[in-house]
Parts: sequence; C-alpha cells; structure tokens
Amino acid sequence: MAYQTINPYTNELVKEYPFATDDEIEEALSKTYALYKKWRNDPVSTRTPVLHKLAQILRDEKDHFAKIMTVDMGKLYVESQGEVLLCADIAEYYADHAEEFLRPRQIASIAGDAQLENHPLGVLLAVEPWNFPFYQIMRIFAPNFAIGDPIILKHAAITPGSALAFEDAVRRAGAPDGSLVNLFLNYDQVSDVIADKRLQGVALTGSERGGTSVASEAGKNLKKSTMELGGIDAFIVAHDADMDAVNDIAPRARLYNAGQVCTSSKRFIVTENHYDEFLAELKKSFAAVKLGDPMDPNTTLAPMNSKKAKEKLQKQVDDAVAGGATLAFEHDPVDSDGQFFLPTILTDIKKDNPMYGKEMFGPVAQVYKVKDDDEAVELANDADYGLGGIVFAGTAEHGAELASRIETGQVYVNTFFSSLPELEFGGVKNSGYGRELGQTGLTSFVNQELVVKRDKPNTNEFGGLVLPFHLHEN
Ligand code: NAP
Repeated sequence: MAYQTINPYTNELVKEYPFATDDEIEEALSKTYALYKKWRNDPVSTRTPVLHKLAQILRDEKDHFAKIMTVDMGKLYVESQGEVLLCADIAEYYADHAEEFLRPRQIASIAGDAQLENHPLGVLLAVEPWNFPFYQIMRIFAPNFAIGDPIILKHAAITPGSALAFEDAVRRAGAPDGSLVNLFLNYDQVSDVIADKRLQGVALTGSERGGTSVASEAGKNLKKSTMELGGIDAFIVAHDADMDAVNDIAPRARLYNAGQVCTSSKRFIVTENHYDEFLAELKKSFAAVKLGDPMDPNTTLAPMNSKKAKEKLQKQVDDAVAGGATLAFEHDPVDSDGQFFLPTILTDIKKDNPMYGKEMFGPVAQVYKVKDDDEAVELANDADYGLGGIVFAGTAEHGAELASRIETGQVYVNTFFSSLPELEFGGVKNSGYGRELGQTGLTSFVNQELVVKRDKPNTNEFGGLVLPFHLHEN
C-alpha cells in the first residue's frame, strides 16, 4: 500500500504518495553520510541553536501542526496541540543539556589518562508509528541531532502529512540538508537501507510484529538497534488506594488518544475490597465520554486511526467474549461514519481466554479482581510484555514498593503516566530494548570511544604487552 492520509473522522482520502524511488534512497544515504562525516568534527554547540529554533517554530505554529496530525490519524485536536508543545520541550531540553551530558567521562586507570568520549555513531534509520505522529519522531530526532547522527525517517504509511510537516519544520529551523530526510519506504526498501554500509543504527517504535522483523534485519547486518514496542500495562489498585484519585485517573489512563497508547493502562488489576466500586465508576466514566469530531473542543473521544485498526479491535473483543469474557459495558452507539470504537469494559478474562495477555490497542479496558496486593503484582508480571504501569496505593512508599516488584520499564505511583524529555522511556521482555529520552536515551546511538593516553608506554618484565591485571600483580 502506498502512503495515504485518510481522515478517520470523514473517511476522505486527503492525499496519496508513491514509494521512494531508488534515486531518492541513494541521495538520502549519500547526503546523510556526508553530513555525518562533517558533524564528526563539529562540536555539539554548533547544532543546539537549531533545536532552540525548532522549539520556537513548533510553539509559534502549534495549531498548524496539530491540525495536520488530527487529519492524518484522527486524534483530538487538543491532544495534538499538547503533543506539539511536548515536542518543543524535548527539542529545548536537548538544546540545553546535550553538551553537558555528552562531555567525556574521565576514568581512573593504571593504563594511563583514560577518558570515554561521546562521538556520533553515524546515520540512523527511524521507523515510527502513527499514534503520536510528531512526538515519536522528536524522541529520536532531538537527542541524535544534538549528538550529530543524521536520520532517515520512515514514518507510518498512514501519517505521511505529519512526516512531511516535521521534516519541513526541521529544515526551517536551519538544520543542514540531510539532518532529517523523510522517505516513503516500503518494507523491502527498509531492509535495503538497513543493509547499506553507510547506515549504523535503527530505532523502531511500533508493534512486536514490526519490531521483530526490523530487529532481525538490523541483527543480520550487525547494526545497533533500539526497539520500543507494545505493552499490556497494569494499573494496580492496591488495598489502601485513594479511590477518588483512582476513579479520576483510571478512565483517562485508558481512553487518552482513543486508547491507542503503548503505555495505556490496558489491564486494571483491582483488590477485591475496591472491585465493585471501581467497576461501577469506570462504567460511569466510559458512559459519559462524548464521541465526535476530533476538532470540536466538546469531543472527549476521537475516532480510531483507521478502519483496519477498528476492525482488528472489534475482532479481539469478539474473540475475548467468545472465549468466556464478560462484556461488562459498551458505550451507546454513535451516529457517525467515522472510525469510532465504542468504549468497552471486559471482565472475567481467564488465562485460557485467547485474548489473555494480548495487547488491545483502543478504548477497551480489561478489569481483573485480585485478593490482595501480592496477587496484584503476580498478575501484573504474568505478561510477555513489560513497558509501563501505574500503581495506586495508600502511600507513595507502599506504591513504590509494589512498583519495584513489577517487571517493567517504567511505573508511576499515585499519578498519571507521563512522558517527559528528562525521563527515560522504554521496556523489557517483548516490549523491546534500549531507551529513548532522558540521559540514557541520549547515549543509545553514540560511539563511546575510549582514549587512553600517556607520555611513555607502560612496560614491565613481560616485555611491554601488559594487561592491567599483570600490572596489579607486579
Ligand atoms: P507497526 O505496525 O509495527 O508499525 C510501526 C512502524 O513500523 C510503521 O512505520 C510501520 O510501517 C513499520 N513496520 C511495520 N512492520 C514493518 C516491517 N516488517 N518492515 C519495515 N517496517 C515495518 O505498529 P503499529 O501497529 O502501527 O503501532 C502500534 C504499536 O506500536 C502498538 O503495539 C504500540 O504499543 C506500539 N507503540 C510502542 C511505543 C513505545 O514507545 N514502546 C510507542 C507507541 C506505540 P507501515 O506503517 O508502513 O506499516
């Protein structure tokens, strides 16, 4: 399928784009590689002003970019606006901190004066999903631009408008040609780019299916990779949780971005003393949701990104119910041809249900009843994924104690899940590997080059070729 923007609210085909040509791919590889060679010698401070300028462009033109995203994949306009501002914050953060974070680290060593220098790694391929069409690009672009790694972008086939708008903003911020090159690649072309000698790393955010395929291409070609994949995050309601806070946050943790967030709370695991109240309140909140035009400020639930995604989710719900789950709630039908999925609550999902442990990427909540906090942690860990999580408990300390026992990449205690420039993002198990954002995210694609210097060689009776432990012994 070619790249297409189909507005999921109106079903209008807005624009279609052909796949990249061989010449376009070659040109992208050669100009990004040439830029890497130049950047290898330029200090970080030569690039950070561009990130400041990019942040300013995003803030100044927030509404313009937000509308492009909403038309591409249907999210609420207000959420698109928030996403643009978050992108500006990420650009600003690396503009302000990259130099400091990338300073060489001195190492005390008997080998000599040792330091670990952070150099660019080379040209990267970023394969990104549609659910946060700007933020997903910025997560990889800002840190790596600061480092000096040029990027070839392969965005999702359904968000080409966002890909072009982001690329244009980077160009207008004054980034040199080749800093971020968007290509409308098909899967075979992705593999060809990964195999090219000029490319050194691949960052993918997406599904386990896409991740497995791209990670194996990267592995086959010995290219460094990070994989930010799916999740079935737990939202634990501990025995002593403050239910007012839980009832306020829980529906939003599931329905934000029409439920299409990798770190959405997909499994609510509730201790039995709170279960009945929790379920009743979640039903009330889901019933109060207003589905409609994503550009309308009164709408609180947007359509899903595409007809295909809606049909896939409907099949998952049907399979879950056929497998013994209870359809505890379904929102009233909506009078629209938009790709709306009615907010749904499933209970009684047993281990033998075909949907147990599967990611449902839309406004569907699974609610589980457990005896106590220990059983809640046990159920949270009974998953092939480990991306995020939320814990509500009587105190921050008790919540944090439970959080630390969950096998996952990131947990928020007594608060909403958020992604911020300074906080590491990433998962374990089938949710992938590596981190984006934060200080760790900044070093995912650097060449940590060790330089050891001395005025004269260190020798001993073994004739000069000394290993450190020999020096210790002598
Ligand atoms: P997806 O199908 O894996 O697509 C993500 C990107 O990978 C798209 O650009 C897609 O291209 C590309 N892709 C998929 N298969 C490929 C292959 N075999 N070769 C080359 N490229 C390939 O994921 P999605 O379903 O659109 O996105 C939702 C998933 O992403 C969910 O599982 C969600 O949890 C996860 N996600 C994770 C994070 C995180 O940070 N961990 C964040 C957001 C979303 P096409 O569009 O052309 O197919």
